Amino acid sequence: MPTRQPRRAPGTRDGRFAVLDPATGEAFDEAPDQRPDELDAVVARAHKAWRGWRADPVARTSALLAAADAVDAAGADLAPLLTREQGKPLAESYAEIARTTARLRYFAEPVPGPQPITDGRPVRSEIRWRSLGPVAAIVPWNFPLQLASAKFAPALAAGNTVLLKPSPFTPLATRLLVSVVSDALPPDVLTIVTGREPLGAHLASHPGIRHVTFTGSVTTGRAVARGAAASLARVTLELGGNDAAILLEDVDPERIADRLFWAAFRNCGQVCMAVKRVYAPVRLCSQVVEALAQRAKTTVVGAGLEPGSQLGPVNNAPQLARVERCTAQALADGARAVTGGRRLDRPGYFFAPTILADVPYDSPVVTEEQFGPVLPVLPYRNIDEAVEAANDTGFGLGGSVWGTDLDRAEAVADRLECGTAWINHHAELSLAQPFAGIKESGVGVAGGPWGLYGNLRPFVVHRPEEERP
Ligand code: NAD
Repeated sequence: MPTRQPRRAPGTRDGRFAVLDPATGEAFDEAPDQRPDELDAVVARAHKAWRGWRADPVARTSALLAAADAVDAAGADLAPLLTREQGKPLAESYAEIARTTARLRYFAEPVPGPQPITDGRPVRSEIRWRSLGPVAAIVPWNFPLQLASAKFAPALAAGNTVLLKPSPFTPLATRLLVSVVSDALPPDVLTIVTGREPLGAHLASHPGIRHVTFTGSVTTGRAVARGAAASLARVTLELGGNDAAILLEDVDPERIADRLFWAAFRNCGQVCMAVKRVYAPVRLCSQVVEALAQRAKTTVVGAGLEPGSQLGPVNNAPQLARVERCTAQALADGARAVTGGRRLDRPGYFFAPTILADVPYDSPVVTEEQFGPVLPVLPYRNIDEAVEAANDTGFGLGGSVWGTDLDRAEAVADRLECGTAWINHHAELSLAQPFAGIKESGVGVAGGPWGLYGNLRPFVVHRPEEERP
């Protein structure tokens, strides 16, 4: 019987896998395809490096600050590479790099000192915050550098060592980032591993890992949690979202249209906390549809490296297939593509920015995460109906309310079942705030001091005030 050979991109050698440019659909480089059995040695080195790294918080702070400066200096090399493999416009790659260095600087602080515990008894007990050990950080392809730094900056600041696994769709800019950051750190404190599955599954379940911090889809998040259960490592999961934007009766559609459009279409809609569905009062629905469609029609779609591009391609072929499937199903369910609704007739994974009207509430483009440049706009009759529809999902990442009366908008926002609710904007996060999805959108808290504590454990020393006879 003939043996089946794995399909390999032209020019890809053994032990490496091809990286495609989503603007052409063609391979342009390769990355190491590491085998799961290589992880034992890598984790052992990370464990050894942990001993020195955890011991000196002052050295950690200066190393992270030096790393941030080095990443800034490497921006002109990082940005085009990120755009080439991810697809986003060059200006967005630079913005992603700026957020990466901002994270390194934000977390470059010593961990909190001993904290006394007072409960009225004559004991002197205190918490001493300790690091956990080697941390596995597994990230997706939509913001490869920003999400990697969101994992490794707090983990390193806390005194852990990190093994970072990027998505096989976007390994290259992350490899460069890690090499730049690592120059400022002792050896083996931050290590990148690249490869196709089952590399991530093995990393998540490796017995030497003490914290698995994962960003990606709900399905993979469940698999990661099952894997980490083997060693009972701590698990942080930042998963998908299906954020609703509710527009109130007093909203001015033309005034908010730019903000709302980009809250849905930035990064080609491939943002966990993008607006993924819009609920508008029946009276205003057609105006909202028209205002958004006008933006969709005039947005410049093109390769991220082409000057003037505002929207790049979808990152990869499976994701494009998902966007096409959701859209085709919506049209079959009776929706109308006011603009877009199809792939662009050019090489690469380009999909026309799409505004859908007359979409049934239960069509998959509404109930699932489309994660692409397609936005359904749904009419509602009263605010209770809108809030109920917004909350009627397994996801619970974010949501937003848009209107002129801010107190009324805030009262509606307070009824949303999610981790973050915005008023008159969407998806803006400060480094200092907690970021935590509820329901299927996640487990654990990232961001701000909570992100740091997620990488620390409380060690309690408990002693009497004085020795008793
Ligand atoms: P994905 O779950 O397919 O992959 C994420 C990462 O997990 C990749 O590195 C992948 O190689 C790896 N992986 C795949 N199978 C694995 C397994 N069995 N065990 C361990 N690791 C495995 O997600 P994706 O398609 O790369 O990213 C898109 C998803 O990420 C969307 O659902 C999006 O909403 C979500 N996301 C969430 C956030 C957030 O902060 N909540 C941020 C960005 C993206």
